[in-house]
Amino acid sequence: MIIDTHAHLDMEDFESDRDDVIKRARENNVRYIITIGIDRESSIKGIKLTEKYPSLYCTVGIHPHNADSITLADIDEIARLASSEKVVGWGEIGLDFFKRYSAPERQMEVFEAQLKIAGDLKLPVIIHSRNAHRETYETIKKYSGLIKKGVIHCFSGDISLAMEYINMGFYISIPGTVTFKNAQKTQEVAKKIPIEYLIIETDAPFLSPAPKRGKRNEPSFIVYTARKIAELRGVEPELIEEKTTENAKELFSIP
Ligand SMILES: [Zn+2]
Repeated sequence: MIIDTHAHLDMEDFESDRDDVIKRARENNVRYIITIGIDRESSIKGIKLTEKYPSLYCTVGIHPHNADSITLADIDEIARLASSEKVVGWGEIGLDFFKRYSAPERQMEVFEAQLKIAGDLKLPVIIHSRNAHRETYETIKKYSGLIKKGVIHCFSGDISLAMEYINMGFYISIPGTVTFKNAQKTQEVAKKIPIEYLIIETDAPFLSPAPKRGKRNEPSFIVYTARKIAELRGVEPELIEEKTTENAKELFSIP
């Protein structure tokens, strides 16, 4: 049994065949999928989808790309939505200084506001960090009294940064890019971090693993990621599936 801890099933990419995508996931042993909010609309849609599909959970939040286009009132509205039964976390939130779709100062403001709310609501946070490793780490550290649990999604740092997060009680989520030939840094992280802090994700529709590279990603493809991590760690894929599922259940309080 596998949990895909990070997918964007609300996106238009899945509009024509969402039923089939979710069915294929089940056929490939993916028991649960967590669909992730990136703005007000996707958070609302994520909740609606969990009402339709028993195998879905969701999160709510504002992605750093969207920091410029939302108001603090939107964040309050999302906080009210967070009481819905199948909302298991707050995110994805964080900093993206690579694409810079929103001004860095505004990203920081929106990030901190959401860390506070997630802390008050006692929800684990889902963190997006790109070209902002230090800034993201320092910001989370600042709120570490309030934020007890979270995950660094699509982790792209090195092993020493991974260990710093783990020491704060954070999980590290490895995506399909670990299957790429040139992904030495991610492979080293996937191989060396304590298995108790490892979870896996697709980030579908993005980041398809090697055999499907270039195609739309979907939750059933997570099996390639589990297999690759098993190979790197010299264990059976079933062990990776079992441990990462246990960890995801613990992090997101999934029964
Ligand atoms: Zn994402």
